[in-house]
Amino acid sequence: MKIPDVRYVLTIGAEPVHVVWADAEYLEATSGEDWNGCVYGFSSSFPQYVSYVNQDLPPRTQASTSLHELLHNISAIFDIGLSEQKVRILEQALCQVLSHKDYAKYLISNLAKS
Ligand SMILES: [Zn+2]
Repeated sequence: MKIPDVRYVLTIGAEPVHVVWADAEYLEATSGEDWNGCVYGFSSSFPQYVSYVNQDLPPRTQASTSLHELLHNISAIFDIGLSEQKVRILEQALCQVLSHKDYAKYLISNLAKS
């Protein structure tokens, strides 16, 4: 089990959200769940907001899983109670939006300006 590094710290609302990639063994040990090594990711909100992603998934699945887990964090931060189904719908819809490369570039180039 390799202890992961925090790859990103995003500010959502006023809360820092740590985004972490790790292997399945670490994810299961950290979550206390037994997924028989078949885990995409999970999120936590205590003691800090963290989105965990299985580093061994294909790159596109890592990206969609990261977005999925962030949506769970957003739901917790703003106390909006998104169900698993609603998180999945938003994940798929946002992945569709962001897969339009020209539009994604437009969004990033303008939203990343500070
Ligand atoms: Zn979920």
